[in-house]
Order: sequence, then C-alpha cells, then structure tokens
Amino acid sequence: MEIGKTMSVCPVCLARIPAGKTLGEDGNLYLEKRCWEHGSFKTLIWEGSLDSYLAWGSNDAGGKVTPVHANVPERGCPYDCGLCQNHERDGCCVLLELTNRCNLRCPVCFAGAGDQQPKDLPLEEISRQYDLLMERGGPFNIQLSGGEPTLRENLPQIIALGKEKGFTFFQLNTNGLRLAQEQGYAAHLAQSGVSTVFLQFDGLEDGIYRTLRGAELTDVKLRALEACREAGLPVVLVPTVAPGVNDHALGDILRFALSRAPHIRGVHIQPISYFGRCALEIPERRLTIPAVLRRIEQQTQGQFRAAHFGGGGAESPYCSFHASYLRREDGTLTPLPRRRSQCCCVKSSEARDYVSQQWSGKAALDAADPDTASLDEFLSHVVENTFTVSGMVFQDAYNLDLDRLRRCYICEVDSQRGMVPFCAYNLTDVNGRSLYRT
Ligand code: SF4
Ligand code: SF4
Ligand SMILES: [Zn+2]
Repeated sequence: MEIGKTMSVCPVCLARIPAGKTLGEDGNLYLEKRCWEHGSFKTLIWEGSLDSYLAWGSNDAGGKVTPVHANVPERGCPYDCGLCQNHERDGCCVLLELTNRCNLRCPVCFAGAGDQQPKDLPLEEISRQYDLLMERGGPFNIQLSGGEPTLRENLPQIIALGKEKGFTFFQLNTNGLRLAQEQGYAAHLAQSGVSTVFLQFDGLEDGIYRTLRGAELTDVKLRALEACREAGLPVVLVPTVAPGVNDHALGDILRFALSRAPHIRGVHIQPISYFGRCALEIPERRLTIPAVLRRIEQQTQGQFRAAHFGGGGAESPYCSFHASYLRREDGTLTPLPRRRSQCCCVKSSEARDYVSQQWSGKAALDAADPDTASLDEFLSHVVENTFTVSGMVFQDAYNLDLDRLRRCYICEVDSQRGMVPFCAYNLTDVNGRSLYRT
C-alpha cells in the first residue's frame, strides 16, 4: 500500500525518477521506484509501524528558508546544487575537504580517500572557499575534513585564516592516528583553535576495525582519546554502524563514552550508507532509525531509551535522531527536553543559550543539585554535564528521497559549484560514478 510519494534517482543511471513510500506485508516501510531502463528497486526505510513513522515526523518544524545567493536551477534536484533556489534550508555545518590523502585505506569511505591522485586544497583556494561561504550566509560551523585533515601540516594556518574571515567554530573530523602517535600534537591543535574533535570510533573490538578500517585500531583510538583529554580537547565519538559488523556494539560505545564524560561530550552515530568506497554488501535489512534506537535501548538495558529520541527539526526528521541527557553525580541520566533545531556540531555557546531558554528560574534550581547556588552556576553545570547521543542516516542512491535532500543543511564546499548538500555530493551510482565529486 502506498502511503506517500517523493522523487528519487535510479541507482544505475542516477536519472531522477518518481518513488513511492509503501507499507510492506511485514509492516515496515519501503521506498519503491522504477527506472524504465534499469528496472525496479525496493529499499527498507523504516523498520517499524506506519504509526511510529508518522509520529516521528509529527514534531517537524517544517518551513522553508531560501539560501543566500541561490543558483537558478536548470535541471532540477539533485543536479543543480550550489545551493539552488529550490533548496529549503540555508547552511549550518560545512565540510572543507582539505586533502584526499589518508593514513588509512578504509574498506568503507564516503570520500573514497586514496583512490585518486593525492591532492591538497591549496591555501589560496581555501581562502576563496571561506569567502564564498561568507557571501552565502556564513559564518557557518566549519568541519575540517578529508581524507585525513591532520595530514595537512598547515592546519593551524588554515584555522587562523578561517578565524580572520569571521568563522568561530572548527570541528576536526579525524581517524585519530596522528593524535595517538605524535606527542604534543593534540595540544598543538588545541592551541590552534580546534573546537571539537569528531573521532572516528567504531567500537572497542579490533575485529570491527579490521572490517571497517582495514587495521586493528582499538589501542590507537584509546591513545588518541587520552591525548585529547590531556590537551583539553573535547571529543565526540563517531561510530559508523554496519549491520552484522558492529550493530551489537552500540551499548559498549555508549557506556564507554559515558564513563569518560565530560571529556567525551557525546556519541554521533552514522548507520552505514552505501556510497563512495564501500566494500560491504548491501544487506536485505539496512539499519533504519527505529532499528538503531531499539538496539541502543536493548544494549544499554534501558538506560538510553528509544522514547527519549526525536528527529531533527531543521533538517527532515527522517534524516537524524538525537537525545540529550543531564549526567548526575551518581551516574544516572535525566533526559533533557528535545531541541528542535540541533545540528551535529557541539557548540558550547549555543548549548548554553539553549539550556538557559529551557531551564529558567526556580524550575532550573529545583532540577539542579541542591548545592548549586545560582542560576548561572546551574547553567554551567548543565552545559558541562550534558551528554548527547545523536545520529544521521545519510542517503545513498537506493534510499535517496529528494524531499529530505532539499532540507539538508550539511554541505560540502565545492570551488566550482558552491555549497552542495552532503548526500548529493557523495552520491554514487552502482558503479561508483559520482554526481558531483571529481
Ligand atoms: S538538493 Fe537543494 S540545492 Fe541541490 S538541486 Fe536539490 S534543491 Fe537544489
Ligand atoms: S547530510 Fe543527508 S542525511 Fe544529513 S541532513 Fe543532509 S540530506 Fe539529510
Ligand atoms: Zn536507470
């Protein structure tokens, strides 16, 4: 039974084609589409009931924000990104791909790092990209990305340049190798102005890393974390979760992160998407939001409950999930009210504003520990002790829903195109051919 319509692409030729959201005989929801040339495709998009699907979307803030200096579309979505006038969100987090080099060659890598000729983005081009972002509505939150961005020796210069241009938040997306191996490097990054480290962290078992990263890395991750802790660099753990590889490990990752809070600020889960370089077979049952939340609840014996989580507010609710908690001294967690527009960057200044809006006056003091004297101390206490679990379900050529894509606020900068939504930039067909990435 069809319950809704959208547009998608053919996974073989990337032609735009109509797609229906259907209720399957097993009670789950699917995206079904047909290319006249390449046949029919059916992909699981929600492992749960229709009611739960509709309830998840019911908190949707909706609305439309036209991007600044938007392009006039010619061929339509998803071929005119830059952003174009049909896009419904301005940017928030922007990835700068500083290099395509990497010190790993992961079997799973959306950027396909190491597959092409080594190329570093020249400083002059980075400067132009910063300018372009300011013209398009910046300053945005900058994600220093790659490849592996720590291979750029001039990372401090790149951050300093961004600061000069008016950017204030720099998140480093890293595999952690250099942080683990080079004495003093974490402190060097902290001094350079890195705000948060997004650390690739797929679990605590070497077998997981062998499959996803091609190397045994548990010890490396632990050493990278220790280096960041010593340098005062806050960390968010970022597991890529693949069914049958590490979907059993979510509980372990969350318990571990919590045991190292507040240095570890939270966990950002990325169920695997089948784009870029991906050596894994696409399973019959890919991981959907309800399936991830069920695993989290089961594997933590209900400490983190599916009911605590909500969908994104700025982006489509079907793109993301998040829950925030106040960590008490006795180790218990109190779920915090849901935020409507929480992006994936962890910005303590915004966190403070948010907390102050949500918790004010006596209610806040009542919720605080009895020895917390003032509202101001309480706010600092809450920000320091907030632990966030979030996730983003990136789209690939099989499950791409253009209604979701038009609301994307996470962009890659492309010197020719401008700002390209992450899921469009990284879209590849079954043969690995990319729509945007050159
Ligand atoms: S994803 Fe957005 S910017 Fe890209 S073509 Fe579609 S509407 Fe335009
Ligand atoms: S990056 Fe992909 S999954 Fe995330 S908000 Fe954008 S379209 Fe949605
Ligand atoms: Zn086709």
